[in-house]
This record gives sequence, structure tokens and C-alpha cells, in this order.
Amino acid sequence: MEFLPEALEQYVEQHTSFENEILQQLNRETHAKVMIPRMISGHLQGRFLAMMSKMIAPKTILEIGTYTGYSAICLAEGLQQDGKLHTIDINEELEDLVRQYFDKAGIADKTQYYIGNALDIIPTLPGNFDLVFIDADKINYANYYDLVIDRISPGGYILTDNVLWSGKVLDDKKDKDTAAIDAFNKKLMNDPRVETVLVPIRDGILIARKTI
Ligand code: SAH
Ligand code: CA
Repeated sequence: MEFLPEALEQYVEQHTSFENEILQQLNRETHAKVMIPRMISGHLQGRFLAMMSKMIAPKTILEIGTYTGYSAICLAEGLQQDGKLHTIDINEELEDLVRQYFDKAGIADKTQYYIGNALDIIPTLPGNFDLVFIDADKINYANYYDLVIDRISPGGYILTDNVLWSGKVLDDKKDKDTAAIDAFNKKLMNDPRVETVLVPIRDGILIARKTI
């Protein structure tokens, strides 16, 4: 589902900085070779994530759900000089493609790429996070939040993707994923530790800022 009329969507993209050559290549290659290419962040959302990351200037980023690495490369644009991006995906079939593009994008040395279940890997990671991007299996969104919330300093951010789930959050009878996303949105809305804004970009991004 597109939330904006096509002409307006085009206008929005035309007035958003271009994706660079490497991101364009990765976007094309993902669409040509990988299953479910609509999962890739793509131009507008990629630029939004890069912009957010530059505003936050994080020292440490955690991404849950690497897929083909597009959003990781965008998020890494805002890392501090000696910053680190940790990114996790359960799908080992994408490893070669992801590593190839982390190399091309020049972020291999500041990126730690983990293959496995994020629920198992997050507790093994060292330190705190300034920016977390949640974008893996929707059913576990609340579990990921619970795993990271105490490891985010006041003023740190959690961005969560697909929180409108093609508009299905409005359905009376919700399937499992939709119910999980709706519960997640309500959980954060009611958590006094964070302030939230649900931004209706693409499939919806929930921005949560840790206040205490
Ligand atoms: N962030 C990417 C898209 C992620 S798509 C982008 O914007 O371009 C969602 C990814 O979550 C898929 O690659 C899938 O393999 C991964 N995933 C699903 N369940 C997971 C789990 N339990 N642990 C880690 N990754 C998982
Ligand atoms: Ca997504």
C-alpha cells in the first residue's frame, strides 16, 4: 500500500537528495537477485535514516535486520569518526552480498555483522547504543525493545520500521504480525521512559527518544 498518491510520492523523491552510485547498485541488485526486494529501505527511507543518523551523530548503532545492507550503509553515514555499527540478520544466504557492499561503501572496518537470531545475539553485544534501528521479524519487536531499552543512554533513539504495516494496524481483526506491531506502538506510547513520534514515511517509522 502506498500512503501518498503516486505523483506526490514522486515529488517527494525528486526533492530528496539522490542515493549514491553504490546504494543505487545495491538497490538494483537486491531487486534483481534477492527474495522479497520490497523489504529494502530504498531511496527516500534510506535518505531519512541517513539524515536521522547525522542529526544524532551516534558513537554506537545497533541494527536488527540487515537484509542486503542498504539501511546499514545509510545509518553508518552519521557515525562518529571512531563509531561502530552492529548489524544482525538471521539469513546467512545474504552474507556475501552484504560483505561485498560494506566493502564497496567503505564501512567494513566500522561494521560488525552478526549472522544469527537477534534475540540470542543482542545480549552478547558489549556496551550501550546511541541509536537502534529495529527492522527484523515483527512478532519480536517488543522483545527487541525490552532487550535494548536499558542499554540506551538518556537522549538516545530507537527507530522502528513498518509500524503502520501497510495500514493493517487499523484492521478490526488483526493477524499475528499486525497485532504485534499494534501492541508495540501502544507499548512505546505508554512507556514513560520514551517520547515518541510516529512518522508516516513509507510504511511508518516510529521514533522513540529515551528521556530518562
Ligand atoms: N533493514 C533492511 C531490511 C530488513 S528486512 C533495509 O531496510 O534495507 C528484515 C530482515 O530481518 C530480513 O533480512 C530477515 O532475515 C531478518 N530477520 C528476521 N527474523 C530475524 C531474527 N530473529 N533475527 C535476526 N534477523 C531476523
Ligand atoms: Ca523494513
